[in-house]
Amino acid sequence: MEPSFIRLYETGRLAEIEAALRERMARCELCPHRCMAERAAGKTGKCRSGMLPVVSSFNQHFGEESCLAGRHGSGTIFMTHCNLFCIFCQNYDISHLGHGDEVSYEEFASMMLALQARGCHNINIVTPTHMVYAVVRALLVAVPGGLRVPLVYNSGGYDSADTIRLIEGVFDIYMPDFKYMDTDTAKRLSGADDYPLRAMEALREMHRQVGDLEIDGRGIARRGLLVRHLVLPNNLAATDRVIGFLASLSKNTYLNLMDQYRPEYRARECADLRRRATIAEFDEAVEWARRAGLSRLDKWR
Ligand code: SF4
Repeated sequence: MEPSFIRLYETGRLAEIEAALRERMARCELCPHRCMAERAAGKTGKCRSGMLPVVSSFNQHFGEESCLAGRHGSGTIFMTHCNLFCIFCQNYDISHLGHGDEVSYEEFASMMLALQARGCHNINIVTPTHMVYAVVRALLVAVPGGLRVPLVYNSGGYDSADTIRLIEGVFDIYMPDFKYMDTDTAKRLSGADDYPLRAMEALREMHRQVGDLEIDGRGIARRGLLVRHLVLPNNLAATDRVIGFLASLSKNTYLNLMDQYRPEYRARECADLRRRATIAEFDEAVEWARRAGLSRLDKWR
């Protein structure tokens, strides 16, 4: 199965998407912050990003879900900066401190092609929300250059449903986090009290486009939605309600429940974030998923 961006390129739709995204960045509304920053004129908004991609690293990565990593790895490209400001971020040197190098669109395309040449099963754009224009612009170079593996949209979940609608067909696999269903927590820990609402809107649109995750005979994801959720101590994320929403989307939603929270960055400033989730808390989350009827449950402990 060819990635859907091939058809977008052949029909000229990819170029139209590039132009529409550029227009959306004239006064930037790419993500739910809607800063109105004039990025095309060199200004930056909350995400501190301009037009050109800033890349922290690109690698053949074997630590992703087995359906993405397969035998030859997932081709991860880590974008610098983020549109969320999570005080427990485990990649804060990249997301908050801005470690990375600005590259041209052609260099960005070359990274995609180099990862494909190493055998990667997909190109996994980590934190694409604020950089989606650069992805499409690079794709206009990478497709005629021979790119034929699907793209993965690996976001924090604070995405605009309008932007996701606009880029339909660019990404075959959506892999957003769904971090919280509690607005106070979302504001306190990530600076976005509308996170639950925006994430629900975005995930509905992602699911409408690509459906449940499809895995081929080799165990490799070809298309669909895969959701990650980090279980926080004291059920700060309202995991039970996140699971309820995912089950309402589809009982076949592929959910990766993660038990990897540890106090990083500024997490120790919050009394209720100073410890890991207990085994009992994580087991309770697994039980919620089972009771909600989510049959495709992955667990990272
Ligand atoms: S992508 Fe960046 S500049 Fe654009 S609205 Fe979001 S935070 Fe603001």
